[in-house]
Amino acid sequence: MSLDTIPKDLRHLRACLSCSLIKNVEQFENDGCENCDEFLHMKSDREKVFVCTSNNFDGMISLMSPDDSWVAKWQRINRFNKGIYAISVSGKLPPVAIRDMKNRGISYKSRDNSTR
Ligand SMILES: [Zn+2]
Repeated sequence: MSLDTIPKDLRHLRACLSCSLIKNVEQFENDGCENCDEFLHMKSDREKVFVCTSNNFDGMISLMSPDDSWVAKWQRINRFNKGIYAISVSGKLPPVAIRDMKNRGISYKSRDNSTR
């Protein structure tokens, strides 16, 4: 079983501000976010990676079988790809990215638990 979404090393880890997927900077830059790159376009754009991800996150959940994981349902990530996810991510997507998501009918939910 090969899981490309699993962080290859623990340095430079960042969490996606949209779906909370955790990977390192190189992985985000090489592959974008498996869940969000359709609208965040982080692939091959290091600057975008830095605005759309945060290195300030708490907790890690490994999501291996999204369909029957109660953790996934609780975190509203059961429709996402397998990988490692943060429980909360500090920071906010840039307004232009949020607008992009809205245009695609995707509602943006902040992953920042501290503002709730
Ligand atoms: Zn994402």
